[in-house]
This record gives sequence, structure tokens and C-alpha cells, in this order.
Amino acid sequence: MEEKFQDRYFHTTDSNPEFLKDVEKLSRSIPHMCFQCGTCTGSCPSAPRSSYRIRKFVRRAVLGLEKESLTDPDLWLCTTCYSCTDRCPRDIAPTDVIMAMRNLAFKWDIVPRNFLKTIQLIYNTGHGVPNNDVNRAARVKLGLEAEPETTHKYPEYLPGIRKIMDHYHMKENADRILSEGEH
Ligand code: SF4
Ligand code: SF4
Repeated sequence: MEEKFQDRYFHTTDSNPEFLKDVEKLSRSIPHMCFQCGTCTGSCPSAPRSSYRIRKFVRRAVLGLEKESLTDPDLWLCTTCYSCTDRCPRDIAPTDVIMAMRNLAFKWDIVPRNFLKTIQLIYNTGHGVPNNDVNRAARVKLGLEAEPETTHKYPEYLPGIRKIMDHYHMKENADRILSEGEH
């Protein structure tokens, strides 16, 4: 990877020039304008706690390193906090580059199991982290209603959420990939 970082025109059998076009189209961003200043990585709350480096992913997009990007588990460590997007001096929106890559990874069924389980939870409850009895008791103790002002309290909005997810076959794909085993 370090060698590939050095060479702006690096192209081998493992680089796919179409990958950059796909990422640019999906993200509506301009990763080819990145000059590798590292501001994004320096802003990233995930970087000090993991091997995740957003700067590398932007570079991989430019180099067309599709497989290397989409199969790297670090792709899923971005919290989408948008700090890097706020600070990038070239207005590249690195967050959207990551989101585009995640969408492309999903096309190859490369999605961590916890993300797939989150899809199932949102489909079933409207929440990635549904309320539970411990939280309900804590809310009541604080003088709040047991259920927050969400689909927990208004389940009639759940069909709308499911309709959106069904449009993108999210639940169907999550169920299928999970039933096929580890990814
Ligand atoms: S902050 Fe912007 S220009 Fe700098 S490395 Fe990150 S994406 Fe590239
Ligand atoms: S949006 Fe993602 S990549 Fe950017 S700073 Fe936040 S966690 Fe890091």
C-alpha cells in the first residue's frame, strides 16, 4: 500500500479505473482533488482508536483499488460524524467517499454482520438500538414516558420505514446474507 501511495499513476491488474468514476458518481465528491494533506485523518475520532485511516481510502479511490477498499474491514469504522468533511481544505467530503464505497461493497454482499443485524432491528422496530426494560425503567425514574417520541411510541410510522427499506431490498438482502453465513 505504501508503494501504491507514492505513485500517482499506479495501475496494475488490481486497479480498476472505473472504481474512481463509480465512487465520484455515488458520492458526488471529487476525491481526485485530494493532495493527501492528512487533515481528514487528523480530525477523525476513529483514527486514534483503530487502524482506520480515511486518507488511505480517498487515495485508494484515486488509484482504483477497488478490491483493496471494499474488502477492508476498516471501511466500516467511520462513524459518519462529518468532521473530516468540515475540515477538508479541498472540499472533498471524505465521509461521502466512504459512504459510496459502502454502497459498492453492499453490491458484492460485503457487509459486516452487525450492520446487517442493525438493518433487521430497524426494520422490525424502527430503531438500530431498540428500547429495553432497563431503559424504560430508567426513563420512568427520571419522570419521562417509558417510550421515546419515536416508532416505539408511534408504531403506525413503521410501515413507512419498511416501505423505504423494501424499495432498496435492504431487509431481504440482510436476511439472505446472514443466512448464508460469515462475511
Ligand atoms: S483532508 Fe481532504 S485533501 Fe486532505 S487528505 Fe483528506 S481528503 Fe485529501
Ligand atoms: S466522518 Fe468518518 S472518516 Fe470522517 S472524521 Fe468522522 S469518523 Fe472519521
